[in-house]
Amino acid sequence: DTSDLVFDLVVIGSGPGGYVCAIKAAQLGLKVAVVEKRRTYGGTCLNVGCIPSKALLHASEMFAEASHSFADLGVKVTPELDLPTMLGHKDKTVKANVDGVAFLFKKNKIEGVTGTGRVKAVGEVEVTGEDGAARTLKTKAICIATGSAVAGIPGLDVAFDRDTIVSSDDAIALQKVPATMVVVGGGVIGLELGSVWSRLGARVTVVEYLDKILGPMDTEVSVAFQKLLVKEGFHFKLGAKVTAVTKTETGASVTFEPVAGGAAETLEAEVVLVATGRKPFTEGLGLAEAGVAMDKAGRVEIDAHYRTNVEGIYAIGDVVKGPMLAHKAEDEGIALAEILAGQAGHVNYGVIPSVVYTSPEIASIGHTEDELKKDGVAYKVGKFPFMANGRGRAMLHTDGFVKVLADAKTDRVLGVHILGFGAGDMIAEAGVLMEFGGSSEDLARTSHAHPTMSEAVREAAFAAFAKPIHI
Ligand code: FAD
Repeated sequence: DTSDLVFDLVVIGSGPGGYVCAIKAAQLGLKVAVVEKRRTYGGTCLNVGCIPSKALLHASEMFAEASHSFADLGVKVTPELDLPTMLGHKDKTVKANVDGVAFLFKKNKIEGVTGTGRVKAVGEVEVTGEDGAARTLKTKAICIATGSAVAGIPGLDVAFDRDTIVSSDDAIALQKVPATMVVVGGGVIGLELGSVWSRLGARVTVVEYLDKILGPMDTEVSVAFQKLLVKEGFHFKLGAKVTAVTKTETGASVTFEPVAGGAAETLEAEVVLVATGRKPFTEGLGLAEAGVAMDKAGRVEIDAHYRTNVEGIYAIGDVVKGPMLAHKAEDEGIALAEILAGQAGHVNYGVIPSVVYTSPEIASIGHTEDELKKDGVAYKVGKFPFMANGRGRAMLHTDGFVKVLADAKTDRVLGVHILGFGAGDMIAEAGVLMEFGGSSEDLARTSHAHPTMSEAVREAAFAAFAKPIHI
């Protein structure tokens, strides 16, 4: 019974923002509770987002490599898909991760409370369990970390039915490989999950409103990546505005018209995945009643210290401004916990990597070339292709390139973009370099183990400040 207890911090939501904030706060000596309405901890990311999608991406990539690349390495196999086992691998991966969070809560003496949380008043969170019973937690500080939910298509009422017209929540659990799939939205989630089903045999067509995929990504990278996806068997309809998604006898149909004007087109598919983004989730939280200000996009408004306009109520993660990424939410969780413990918590928003876990991967940090051009910044660009990298050749991973953007005068690195095998891991060194305000010369003069894919990062840095060696 915790009715007399006063917590230092009650976190609503146990995603990467909430659970990391709770752990850090507990480590710093605060008395913490976390309220979660799901039966398991870990939020979108661990339950239906980052982790299950990566389990399926890895497994389907192995299937595709066994089908197409192993023979070139002298390994002859005839792969056969066992989808139930593949989905089982995903479920086991999720379970291990969410159980890990429960273990960490115990280890750090964090009170986990299952139920839907609502801000009852300043310093009070009401939690309603599945049985309808409510209890109130008293606390000095409240952290809103309720994340985001599927946004749907602006202006359209899409009838999601969990197996024909689906969101990412169900696209990670299709019980059969569809022969055809239309993905509405050429962003990260659509391309990742489209890749999974394409590798397993679906004919995937992506319908995207913009005239490029991966909207904010460096255009050169996004164009090169699209070509690789076409080689893999993807089809694209760019600059296309979806006007209807309708259930049919055999599946569903997607109708769209060119954004620039012209005749409408309709595509039929067994499954339609709507991946047009996510919206902050604040339903039923009682924020309006508590007087918490929201911005026009429905996000909780915060200052540089994650404070809302109401004393004692803070917010982090997908529910506030900034990129909807798990590591951004985690970083904010740590910073807020430090601030609440009287320390100087801080997130450097200029150096948050973003990764697309397709094959090859795409990783990006800092400014794109498009942004530098638009802002009139004088910059140098250094590029290096994996085709000229020995390890890439040895592994048959020669697609893609590294691009380093550095300030023309100071040589400070302003952005790094990688299209290539393992890009998501390689981008970390660019992050460290940029945190320290490093230059392309610093990167190029840092010894990199040979033979590794990361030598291409060094070579691109060489190309930015002098000349690459191997091309
Ligand atoms: P969430 O993870 O959304 O967690 C919020 C939690 O709050 C949920 O568990 C919810 O049940 C709970 N909650 C909400 N309201 C209440 C309430 N009133 N009471 C109690 N509990 C409540 N990001 C990456 O960085 N890398 C990736 O590879 C990646 N892949 C993704 C793949 C997919 C398919 C999706 C959908 C997302 C992916 N993301 C990825 C994004 C990532 O999942 C989010 O950025 C991240 O989960 C945000 O964390 P959060 O803590 O803010 O919120």
